[in-house]
Amino acid sequence: MECHKCGTPIPAGEERSYHDTILCEDCYMDVLSPARACDPWAVRSAGLSARSGDSLEGSAVQQRILSLIQKNNGMSIADLAERLAVKTGDVEREIAALRHMEKVRATLRDGKKIIVPW
Ligand SMILES: [Zn+2]
Repeated sequence: MECHKCGTPIPAGEERSYHDTILCEDCYMDVLSPARACDPWAVRSAGLSARSGDSLEGSAVQQRILSLIQKNNGMSIADLAERLAVKTGDVEREIAALRHMEKVRATLRDGKKIIVPW
């Protein structure tokens, strides 16, 4: 059994169900916690995605991701993180936003996940 949110394997009997999903203890606390709204990171992410939804420009990092994958005809998230000197998790978040805007998509190349222009 894996957490539907973060993918962490959950020991038998310790899974928590929330609506239709199975969550690990951490994520369950996360969804239930009223302190979530006070989490500066959550608020910042929400602000970021709201902004990029409003504008066609996206963030500066998103622009750099787009130009890199266009120039290189697709790159892996690890390569993007290295080229942009940001954390893999940050790249993944930007990619998720870009996918949402239908600017990039993921494809498999030689068994590796590669981000390519939409
Ligand atoms: Zn989890």
